[in-house]
Amino acid sequence: MTSPDTIVAIATPPGNGGIGILRLSGPGALDIGEKICRSRIEAGKIQFRRFYDENGLVIDHGLCLYFREPRSFSGEDSVEIQAHGGAIVLDMLLERLCELGARLARAGEFSERAFLNGRIDLTQAEAIADLIESGSRAATRAAMRSLEGRFSELVHALVDEIIQLRVYVEAALDFAEEEIDYLDNPEIDERLSRSQLQLQQLLEQAEQGLALQEGLSMTLAGLPNAGKSSLLNYFAGYEAAIVTDIEGTTRDVLREHISLKGVPVRISDTAGLRESDNPVELEGIRRAWDVIGKADVVLYLIDAKSGKSAADEQIIDRLRGDNLQIVYNKSDLMPENAPRDPEAIYISALNGDGLEKLIERVTGRISDYNQDNQAFMARRRHVDALQRAGASIREATTTFETTRSGELMAEDLRAAQNHLNEITGDFTSEDLLGRIFSTFCIGK
Ligand code: GDP
Repeated sequence: MTSPDTIVAIATPPGNGGIGILRLSGPGALDIGEKICRSRIEAGKIQFRRFYDENGLVIDHGLCLYFREPRSFSGEDSVEIQAHGGAIVLDMLLERLCELGARLARAGEFSERAFLNGRIDLTQAEAIADLIESGSRAATRAAMRSLEGRFSELVHALVDEIIQLRVYVEAALDFAEEEIDYLDNPEIDERLSRSQLQLQQLLEQAEQGLALQEGLSMTLAGLPNAGKSSLLNYFAGYEAAIVTDIEGTTRDVLREHISLKGVPVRISDTAGLRESDNPVELEGIRRAWDVIGKADVVLYLIDAKSGKSAADEQIIDRLRGDNLQIVYNKSDLMPENAPRDPEAIYISALNGDGLEKLIERVTGRISDYNQDNQAFMARRRHVDALQRAGASIREATTTFETTRSGELMAEDLRAAQNHLNEITGDFTSEDLLGRIFSTFCIGK
């Protein structure tokens, strides 16, 4: 598919630099490129050219490259002009290229065209933006893996598995009149649980990829005076929160961005969870529960000197989940032979004891994932789509178990497949595409 118009943009960042690059893409790219150079341009060669204004005056000179469709980034005829990187020079060249028939590209339009022309799929297009914007080396490597197609491969493998299952079920429906019940086959159950497992693994990996992109959210919770603010200050490296021995000091949720072993972490300190009749404190406690509910990791702090209280027990019961980590703080005040909970981590926010271990535990999953060289970049919308696909497969399983209805199961499987196809862009609304590409930078 070739777009009707030719787009142009300055691909290098604003400001002055040694070199500035302009990109043209579309059916008129070669013609416009040749007009500004007032000479022919050949494909696959690096050519030195002068770039002229409408009066024949030289605006600048530099290199010119022509990529003939479909062998270009966008899949369309493309010309790249490498001029001097002055803001005014580049503006003059841009203006001239527009006079010659190009139109200014929208944000992400080159990548959008690459996607529409089948050069890359949607996760790869997103990976380009993530690579450009990545905030850590780990995130850069993960984005590169997505760009090379690692994430898409895994999604496709899962889609294939679901397609095979659908073929099986739908064939059985075609033979529904026959004596043998083709649906009464352990193969179907096996395939269903295999898809479910595969999806669960992919979801976990995508959640980790999302954490690399967005950072991990970690919330500190506990009774007043457990040491939450002291721990926040330790992590932040400065006195971000007020530390006193007066209970109920932290009312609002305090947030800090930190990096733990290269993993970006958004950490929040919350109001101590206790009974109160002070309306301001109560609002703080309500907000604390809200933040706790959304966190990837909840560190529940207990005062190690006084030990776990009945109030702690009650809150822990409410918090239970895989994202909960119990932390005993003030280990410096603990009696030497006091019994220890093997699942918990013991720290002292005062002297730093045990914090290395705590950081290891928090970042462990993500760092392991990185070191395995499996990490790929994922976005919130990918995780959402995987969750919806998982729900559809679970639905298919229960429907099948309870009704033995092939039609209903086929319907759920189709829904699961559509959710997965949304990730790679094989099944995507224009509206979604618009939203995705508009967040890209101009010239990409
Ligand atoms: P929060 O109410 O949970 O935020 O607790 P704070 O961080 O305000 O700490 C309450 C009190 O405990 C303060 O007086 C801190 O100095 C003290 N504290 C915090 N962490 C430690 C620790 O590891 N050891 C000791 N000895 N005191 C601590």
